[in-house]
Amino acid sequence: MVRKIAILTSGGDAPGMNAALRVCIRAGLYYGKEMYVIYDGFRGLVEGDIHQVNKDFTQDIINRGGTIIRSARLPEFKEPEVIKKAIDVLTDFEIDALIGIGGDGTFRGLNDLAKAGFPCVGVPATIDNDVGSTDQTIGFSTALNTICDCIDKLKDTSSSHQRCSLIEVMGRHCGDLAMYAALAEGAEGVICVEHPLKKEQLFKKLRKMKAQNKNHAIIIVSENLLDINALAAEVEKETGFTARTEVLGRLQRGGSPTANDRILATRLSARAIDIVIKEEGSKIVGMKNNAVVDYPIQDAVNMKHEYVHGLRDLIDMLQ
Ligand code: ATP
Repeated sequence: MVRKIAILTSGGDAPGMNAALRVCIRAGLYYGKEMYVIYDGFRGLVEGDIHQVNKDFTQDIINRGGTIIRSARLPEFKEPEVIKKAIDVLTDFEIDALIGIGGDGTFRGLNDLAKAGFPCVGVPATIDNDVGSTDQTIGFSTALNTICDCIDKLKDTSSSHQRCSLIEVMGRHCGDLAMYAALAEGAEGVICVEHPLKKEQLFKKLRKMKAQNKNHAIIIVSENLLDINALAAEVEKETGFTARTEVLGRLQRGGSPTANDRILATRLSARAIDIVIKEEGSKIVGMKNNAVVDYPIQDAVNMKHEYVHGLRDLIDMLQ
C-alpha cells in the first residue's frame, strides 16, 4: 500500500504550479497519506532535499505565481548513475511514489525513474503549452493573459508614435502563445513554426497600412525563430513604418494564476493523487476535450502536441 508520496516541480516555472502542489498535498492528506515536498526539482531529489509537510504548508498558495518549492534544471538527470542515485534517495526516505509537476523534459525524467521501477505521475505545467498529452498545460492561460496585458499597453504608446511593434513571446518551439495572442490582440502579423514568416506578404500589408495612415501595427514573433531586431530593420527599410522590438521574456512566467489555471491545476492534481493511491502505475495526466485523461508515461512522452486546426485560417482571415 502507498504510504508516503513526494512531489516536486521542475523545468521552467509556471503560474499554477503552487495550486497544483496544494491540491496534491491536500488530497494526499485527505486519504491519510504522508506527504513530502522536494525542493529544486530533480537536483533536490538527488541531493535528498525532501521534507514532510502538513496542511499548513498549503495555506495561501493557490493564488501565488512561481513555485514555493522552487524549480531547477539538472541536465545530467539523463545519466543512469544519476537515476540510480535518485532511486536510492527515494528508497532511503521510504517514498512510495513521486508526482512531478512540469513540462515534457520533466516527464522524460519521470519516465527514466519509472523505467527503473519507481512509480511516477506527471502533471503538465509549463507556459509553453507544448505537451502532447494534454490540450492545455497549467500556466498557459496566465501567460497568455500577461502577454495580452503587455501588448495592450504597447498599443497605447505605439499608436501615439505610429509605430510597428515587433513583440517576441515565449513558447520554445510551440506557436500556441504567439497564435492565441495574435487572435486575442487582433495583431497584424504572427510568425511562429505553425505560421511561418512570408516576408513579401507582410511588407506589402504594412506598406498598405502606412499608406492608409494606420496608427500602429502589431507583429507577434515566437522565440527561437529569427533575429527580431534584424526583422525590425527590414520593416523600417521596406515599409516606411518606424519599428520597435520588445522581448517580453520572463515577465511571461510571472503573476498570479488565472482562475482557469487554478481549476486546471486542481482537476489534474486530484487525478494524479487518485492514480497514485489506486496504484495504477506510472502515468501522465492531462485534459482532452474538457475531460481529465491519463496515459501510460512511456506513451505520453512520445505524444506530439497537436496544432489546433483552423487557428491559422482564422488568423489569416482576420489580419
Ligand atoms: P519547460 O518546457 O516549461 O521549461 P520542462 O519540464 O520541459 O519545462 P526541461 O528543462 O526541458 O523543462 O526539463 C526539466 C528537467 O527534466 C531537466 O533539467 C532534467 O533534469 C530533466 N530532463 C529533461 N530532459 C530529460 C531527458 N531526456 N531524460 C531525463 N531527464 C530529462
